[in-house]
Amino acid sequence: MTTLTFYGGCGEIGGNKVLVEDRDARVWLDMGSTFDFGSEYFTQYLMPRDRFGLRDYFALGLLPKLPGLYSQEWLDRAGFAYEPPRFSAAFISHIHFDHTNHLKFLDPAIPVHLGVGTKIILDSWEITTRSMDLLSHDYRTFRTGGSVDADGLEVEPIHVDHSAPAAYGFLVHTSAGTIAYTGDLRQHGPHGEMTRDFIEAAKTNEPIALITEGTRVAPQDPRANFTEALVKSKSIETAGKATGKAVFATFYPRDVDRMRTFVEVAKGVGRRFVIQARAAHLLLSLAQDTRIQVPDVLRDSDLLVYDRQFERQDTWEKNLFAQLGDRVVTSDYVRAHQDELVVQLDFTTMPELVDIQPLPGSSFIHSKSEPIEENDEVEAAVANWVRFFKLKRFQYHASGHMSETEISDMIRAIAPKTVIPVHTEYPGRFTRFASHVVQPRVGDPMPMG
Ligand SMILES: [Zn+2]
Repeated sequence: MTTLTFYGGCGEIGGNKVLVEDRDARVWLDMGSTFDFGSEYFTQYLMPRDRFGLRDYFALGLLPKLPGLYSQEWLDRAGFAYEPPRFSAAFISHIHFDHTNHLKFLDPAIPVHLGVGTKIILDSWEITTRSMDLLSHDYRTFRTGGSVDADGLEVEPIHVDHSAPAAYGFLVHTSAGTIAYTGDLRQHGPHGEMTRDFIEAAKTNEPIALITEGTRVAPQDPRANFTEALVKSKSIETAGKATGKAVFATFYPRDVDRMRTFVEVAKGVGRRFVIQARAAHLLLSLAQDTRIQVPDVLRDSDLLVYDRQFERQDTWEKNLFAQLGDRVVTSDYVRAHQDELVVQLDFTTMPELVDIQPLPGSSFIHSKSEPIEENDEVEAAVANWVRFFKLKRFQYHASGHMSETEISDMIRAIAPKTVIPVHTEYPGRFTRFASHVVQPRVGDPMPMG
């Protein structure tokens, strides 16, 4: 018997964790955490007692008590006995937090399969932020065209276009038939053909089920249907009008396509692009993967790297700056040359504005989704910085996700027997464009075939 059990992503965006059980195999598709994981009980200073491992998470029902899943370290004082792994593997569709973050709880003896590019990003991120604590796993990398056998279950990764490089969907060839899983995907990005490859491959396999994301399947879609090309042309227009003043751009730190877009925007208006050191480290790391096209930090003289002037530099930063020589710039340089630059500011680097002293009326291009929550504290703070420094705000962003119409077209093209919506707040809407929809419920095994 083949079953699917969903432990996240049910009626919510993010937190995908799907358990596929087939004969001897027990395989996870993604190991994410929702963006607001535990926020109904925890906030800033009110934190779970990590000294007791998973005790608080279990007690509050935030994590399932599954034997043979968690690491000994997280169970030691949690009041739940450690057992050797009872799972075959975890497959990670892409690097985003809401698909990876609960890997940190996983027994490191369980193999974790992920794309070559995803592993590079993970390593770079770990070196530059030390925030994820994910290094100890038994990682095994894959590429499109390969397939992985996990205790007799064949899992085939197929690239898709998304707002992170090295994103994949999966075809899971179970004894009951093929189950397709989209991960997160879009068609309007620079690599739309990858998503079409996935759709084509899924269709060919006549899947018994399609587990699909539905971030933008909603009565109202707040995300404008911008393409990456439109983000570029709009930003060039804005930067072109900013004569004599600074241009800032803020975007998701791992959105490499967006970095490339802003390199081209800067070149398009005869400016140089200043990126944060972390972003430069990521680009340098990804340059090792010949299948991912990234701006050339080492050779492109139009790329400058920002030095935040920490009292003590980390080794990675020292090495990076040594390689770049006079293309490392500080706030003094940016202040004096602001009309010749486009500057990357992510929300953690907003205070650099204090030293950059942008001229009033400088441009601030917000190249991320519009805040969806009204009480988004980060976005509220960023907006106040923008107001304080009298910057002009522009909103240009290409979403990482397909629109509702594109999702419905994809479902029609693949024609699965059953559609299972995840990563959406409106799973009920899928009945508008799919005849057999099953809504997953957390922890409820769903028999297949
Ligand atoms: Zn994603």
